[in-house]
Amino acid sequence: MINGHACDHGGVPELPEVEALAAFLRDQAVGEVVARIDIATISVLKTYDPPLTALQGLTITGVHRHGKFLDLDCDGLHFVTHLAKGGWLRWSENLSPAPPRPGRGPLALRLHLASGRGFDLTEAGTKKRLAVYVVREPAEVPGIARLGVDPLSAEFTTKRLRAILDEAGRSQIKGVLRDQSVVAGIGNAYSDEVLHVARLSPFHPASSLTDDEVDTLHAAIVETLRDAVRRSAGLAAQDLKDTKRSGMRVHGRTGEKCPVCGDTIREVSFADSSLQYCPTCQTGGKPLADRRLSRLLK
Ligand SMILES: [Zn+2]
Repeated sequence: MINGHACDHGGVPELPEVEALAAFLRDQAVGEVVARIDIATISVLKTYDPPLTALQGLTITGVHRHGKFLDLDCDGLHFVTHLAKGGWLRWSENLSPAPPRPGRGPLALRLHLASGRGFDLTEAGTKKRLAVYVVREPAEVPGIARLGVDPLSAEFTTKRLRAILDEAGRSQIKGVLRDQSVVAGIGNAYSDEVLHVARLSPFHPASSLTDDEVDTLHAAIVETLRDAVRRSAGLAAQDLKDTKRSGMRVHGRTGEKCPVCGDTIREVSFADSSLQYCPTCQTGGKPLADRRLSRLLK
């Protein structure tokens, strides 16, 4: 590994991975009955009414994605989860029936189906942000209620993107793309990829894009996400992370060569994340100031 960020290349599962997880669960779990749900990390459960036990005996009738949220419709009650950074879903054909020991390892929650199959929600690392909600309507989850337009929906037109960017004013384009209340489902990884495809600096002010640049950005968002969804289609849950990582052109690839122009991919580091970009493709050949680096050099 070239840099020290290898461990978090997976990052938060974003639209393509959650879409693929939803498709995977639709294939595997629809029609199955929920037998029991074990909580290993008590803080993951964000709601108490209806209780988790209300899902017992209900049939999974549908699986949906809202932004980066995964939603299991169980006879009209919804089991919703946001996997967060380091969070993942591990499917099992033969789930251990023994209750998990709380506070041990990455296991957060285990959902048993009546057939003996089921899945674990796991979260690596010390920052526990994985969240589970049991609600009557998905929009009762605050993070779902405030989601912006889904970039793979028909409403996400070039005109809509122009309006979004105008409203964002001088905000940096990278931050606008990652704002879930503006566009739903894009995070740190796919915003890097989209901006590389669109040949835009991550720090470009949103409202100052030309009409041509907005067209290019719109196409880059839709194509990048569709490509990633296509690559992930039909994959088992455990293979999605590797597919996400290997599909990245610049994200998580600091020090490697840009696949388009051969320049060296650079990064800008922040307190708990970093972005990657190609100077030749995106910033007229000029490296962006890395605040962490410049502070060290002072
Ligand atoms: Zn390049």
